[in-house]
Amino acid sequence: MVEALQSPAHATYWLIPGQTLFITLNLLGLACFAHIVTRRLTPLIRGERDFRFDRPFLRLERVLQFWLGQWKQPRYRVAGTIHILIFTGFILLATRAFSLLILGMSENFALPNSSTGIGHLYEIVADYAATIVFLCMVAAAVRRIVFRPARYEVPEKHGKGHKSDAIFLLSLIALLMFSESLFEASKAASLAQQGQTEFLATFSLAWVLQSALNSESLSTLWNLHRGAYLLDVLTFYFLLCYRPFGIQFHVETSLFNVYFAKLDRGTVKPVRWDVTEEHLDQVKSFGVKTFEDFTWKHMLDFYSCADCGRCSDNCPANAVGRPLSPRFLTIKARDYSFQHYPMFGAANNGAPLIGGIYSEDEVWSCTTCGACEEECPLLIEYIDKIVDLRRGLVDEGNVPKSIQKALKALEGRGNPYGKMEKKRADWTKAEGFPATCDVKILNGKKAAETLYFVDSITSYDDRIQAIGRATARILDNVGNDFGILGAAEKDSGHEVRRFGEETLFLALRDNNVDAIKASGVQRIVTADPHAYNALRHDYKDVPPVEHISQVIAREVKTGNLKLNAIENESNVYAYHDPCYLGRHNQVYDDPRDVLDAIPGLKRVEMTRCRDRSFCCGGGGLMLFYEPKEEQRMGVKRVQMAAEAGANVIVTACPFCMVNVEDAIKVAGMEGKMNAIDLAELVAQQMVCKNPSDREGVDHLVEPAKLVTV
Ligand code: SF4
Ligand code: SF4
Repeated sequence: MVEALQSPAHATYWLIPGQTLFITLNLLGLACFAHIVTRRLTPLIRGERDFRFDRPFLRLERVLQFWLGQWKQPRYRVAGTIHILIFTGFILLATRAFSLLILGMSENFALPNSSTGIGHLYEIVADYAATIVFLCMVAAAVRRIVFRPARYEVPEKHGKGHKSDAIFLLSLIALLMFSESLFEASKAASLAQQGQTEFLATFSLAWVLQSALNSESLSTLWNLHRGAYLLDVLTFYFLLCYRPFGIQFHVETSLFNVYFAKLDRGTVKPVRWDVTEEHLDQVKSFGVKTFEDFTWKHMLDFYSCADCGRCSDNCPANAVGRPLSPRFLTIKARDYSFQHYPMFGAANNGAPLIGGIYSEDEVWSCTTCGACEEECPLLIEYIDKIVDLRRGLVDEGNVPKSIQKALKALEGRGNPYGKMEKKRADWTKAEGFPATCDVKILNGKKAAETLYFVDSITSYDDRIQAIGRATARILDNVGNDFGILGAAEKDSGHEVRRFGEETLFLALRDNNVDAIKASGVQRIVTADPHAYNALRHDYKDVPPVEHISQVIAREVKTGNLKLNAIENESNVYAYHDPCYLGRHNQVYDDPRDVLDAIPGLKRVEMTRCRDRSFCCGGGGLMLFYEPKEEQRMGVKRVQMAAEAGANVIVTACPFCMVNVEDAIKVAGMEGKMNAIDLAELVAQQMVCKNPSDREGVDHLVEPAKLVTV
């Protein structure tokens, strides 16, 4: 009778006193875990430096939002809900798990004290939490086995699937919840037989087990009680030590990963955190070539991936069959680390990653659209890693030929087309344009308050020059005192940097910064989100910059810019968020507000919009790269617009325009689908202060039939 109430610390297990056994198990378990974690930390210590210790309050805020608040989980409703329940259960059960471990060494230990009201309340909450986690494990296993979402699949080219590992881990957690509940239930059943009551949460797993055990003999209950305790301790330590060998390692690392996550969107990491730009010439090797060239934080990313597949599910490169899947960039690096930093013995590492675990095509396939990073619930970073891998390739001279040509032209002429600098402002000389819109060239003789930074594609591409003229017309019409740099402007270098050519980027940037400063302007406006991102995040000491959509939205709001009604009412417009305006700079509402301000304009949203926008195929040097793919990203995007019921795609980026117009032709949708830039549409619809300015507006959207696909 008395035995039934004994603590496991006072029981004997195969003649070993419980207290001795559990002290030994606790010490062994912790020592084993400490050894494993130390070995896992070895590559991080050898990795490159990474400065992640600034802005602690902002970092803590993000921990509260993204780690404790599980902010991104609901983006996938079913999996997200299951994860939130499991995570909350784990948090609630942490105190009970600790108490249980101590109980084997110290009789009647309970945190909080079980004889207090708070202790009782906590026991009830913990019973329900264990039940919910148990049921979630069952649901997650059924999902993995029966209703397996496509994003969990592992294509053959990326290695073996992880289904059995995932099921094994889910089973272990379920076993832990079961053993905890059985421990509680057997004790409650034995007390009940002695006329005492221990309250278990109604309908909890412990309560159900107690109901099933009520008629068992006291000796059976006692055996179950101490057996459940031993099972719980063994499962706990097995899980603790097994997790760092697979996807469950994120349970331990995610808190740190979120705390140290990148804070500044749109930026690219420096070549070396401990080397200033002025001293880059002293860096012997650029970028990532071996595993140890990754920074410690990027290695922590590899450990923290939960293999949920959300990044690849949203990656446009993966969607069109390019040889890139962000999830596997991480998984392959993690497997590499596990293999080359074994639990015992020396590290066997230093082999090149390209040609080993990654291919060159894989690394060049990324458009740096940021969809993967936006989606990842653990804030794992991809763009900086890919840029670093490209820096390594550039340093070795392994650059695709077509890009080499563009880079050479940028070096010689400041634009990727190799066109002459003096022709940079020729777009302003189009027939009928100079008479209706005066564009000053800020070459020292003329001054202006605003600089319109045009960038290369708008300056030189015949079709895209129309966006330049539309932008200039708008600035002129709202009374802006503006000008351009003309021949003094060079490419913003945005893509040059993201293609890994840091030195060339710095040269382009410094040229532009000098020219901007010499012009004496107070603010900058651009219609190119890539230039916008570069000026905002890659340049230093330049005046504040705005995208033209922000300027238009403000002018419309103040009433300074009025818009005429749409003539063709059969047109249905869908706005395509450019990656470097939306995801990287969070400008989502201004372009939509502008469209909604045009009387009679019918607008629909594509399923993938705003921060889930689907990249058009990439800008900058991506136009010079022909990756292996099954379908063009732009074609997929045009199909998405058609599915949404649109027949006009509105973009706000010259590169999107090139890709989308091209995709319309490739998809055979000419005459059924049109594309127009937001600036072009506004220039077409705006009420001109001088009515003669309407003449010569470049690009009008032709009436298009509504498409049903
Ligand atoms: S940045 Fe875009 S293209 Fe590159 S891996 Fe991420 S989702 Fe894919
Ligand atoms: S990187 Fe993030 S989104 Fe991608 S599989 Fe890992 S945890 Fe999921």
